[in-house]
Amino acid sequence: MTGSIQRVVIVGGGTAGWLAAGLLAARRPDLSVTLIEAPDIPTIGVGEGTWPTMRETLASIGIAEEEFLRECDASFKQGSRFDGWVDGTAADSYLHPFTAPPPGDMRDLLAAWRASCPDAPFAAAMTPQAAACARDLAPRQRAMPPYAGALNYGYHLDAGKFAALLARHATTRMGVTRIAAEVTGVIAADNGDIAALTLRDQPALAGDLFLDCSGQAAILIGGHCDGGWIDRSDVSFNDRALAVQVPTARDAPIAAQTVGTAHAAGWLWDIALPTRRGIGCVYAARFMDEEAARAVLLDYVRTHVPGADADQLQPRQLIFRTGHRERFWDRNCLAIGLSAGFIEPLEASAIVLIELSLNALIENFPASRAAMTIHASRFNELFRYRWDRIVEFLKLHYALSRRSEPYWLAQRAPDTIPARLAEQLELWRDQPPSSWDFPRVDEIFSAASQQYVLYGMGWPAPPAAAPSPAAAARLVEVRERARALAAALPANRTYFTAAAAAAAPHERLVRT
Ligand SMILES: Cc1cc2nc3c(=O)[nH]c(=O)nc-3n(C[C@H](O)[C@H](O)[C@H](O)COP(=O)(O)OP(=O)(O)OC[C@H]3O[C@@H](n4cnc5c(N)ncnc54)[C@H](O)[C@@H]3O)c2cc1C
Repeated sequence: MTGSIQRVVIVGGGTAGWLAAGLLAARRPDLSVTLIEAPDIPTIGVGEGTWPTMRETLASIGIAEEEFLRECDASFKQGSRFDGWVDGTAADSYLHPFTAPPPGDMRDLLAAWRASCPDAPFAAAMTPQAAACARDLAPRQRAMPPYAGALNYGYHLDAGKFAALLARHATTRMGVTRIAAEVTGVIAADNGDIAALTLRDQPALAGDLFLDCSGQAAILIGGHCDGGWIDRSDVSFNDRALAVQVPTARDAPIAAQTVGTAHAAGWLWDIALPTRRGIGCVYAARFMDEEAARAVLLDYVRTHVPGADADQLQPRQLIFRTGHRERFWDRNCLAIGLSAGFIEPLEASAIVLIELSLNALIENFPASRAAMTIHASRFNELFRYRWDRIVEFLKLHYALSRRSEPYWLAQRAPDTIPARLAEQLELWRDQPPSSWDFPRVDEIFSAASQQYVLYGMGWPAPPAAAPSPAAAARLVEVRERARALAAALPANRTYFTAAAAAAAPHERLVRT
């Protein structure tokens, strides 16, 4: 190995591996990028909700938004709705949208909410996105420039199709080399780094920097490079999911947000794509067995998907370990994706962590092996911080619940609540979450996200004086904008029907 870092070798062809290949090839065309994927080891095949960051990621890789939507059976995601999390009654529902509340002092805005529209849910008072979500509206019109929206948005997508699109794009348009082979071992350099990987039935492959995107196998970071492991199951109990894909009618409405519905020992996700819904039951094996989880899942499908034949579905079980690496970057190996860690997909924080990891790598790419150690240590510190904040934010959803099943009582046991979250909850009795609580410019869950969950779940607003006229006016603006957008934005279904009709003549030409 020479001192300079020129050859990047990625192990794994799931969402993490192909996003890594695409972003590196786009932003560092001077590097040689090779991706190895084992043809017989499947990808995890789930991971259908992204954050708005994905728009910039796709644009920088050079994938057109229309192509992405069409090829990945994708739809727009404007946030997450949580049903049944507070007390499990029929009216129990709140939204965590992607658009932040209006600018201004949150204490003042809370006072204005209480004074002017106390019956409106917090999110509906703070952003027109709530009204758009309630009506299944798209966040943009088709005539708008790609990746631009009237409201902030990410995507719902078919994970298998997404990896396939990224792979096609990276190999045919960006010069990424793909090797279909299983990595069987590591050839170590004198200093303990990885010098090369041995492959089944193929010659060994040398590199300077190795990205472990091998999913739960974590073959490099959990093997030759010892990244350690920090278990977080003491805070986050869920360790299983059962997933199904349910075809939907061509004219069925397409929901604008992920719906997460609480059940006795976990929750269900429901993600609507143009042709199907991806539905899954997340649960803790300690509190629910597979048979009971299957019954919860199929019952949900029967009651929530018109026309679905639940008895024909074969749920796929996924088992996961909650936690993350102590060192994500060890020697010349950086773990990205499931190999770096995983926590239940409650706020879809996995793919965005992949994007954040890649941005951190690319913007601080080590010019030499000597610089790599410094970059690795900074990276590890930053991502330990991020993981801690994710664990706390997900726990917030449970800490505020008033449900009374044993699982929910256990979730609120004080010894399972991280100390920092417990302290913050104490402070939030007197003041709303703010950037004082989340001081980094690139916080993964901003104060706005905390506010949506906190006040969505009924946390009392701190004492305040009468609202200022400015705060009251901001909330009037939200209501007016909600009305204007309702008139201007198409329903998701209308958007995707028109997109398909516009693509059809082109597809006929391509085929003939
Ligand atoms: C139930 C569930 C729901 C989820 N929902 C969401 C969500 O809504 N939003 C979100 O952001 N994330 C979600 N995630 C997480 C998301 O699925 C992953 O973060 C994402 O798919 C990245 O996976 P990956 O690429 O790291 O691993 P994988 O998809 O598992 O890919 C691993 C790759 O490594 C290869 N490989 C393994 N071993 C070897 C070897 N020895 N040699 C060569 N290649 C090898 C495999 O062939 C494969 O190509 C969810 C996860 C689960 C479990």
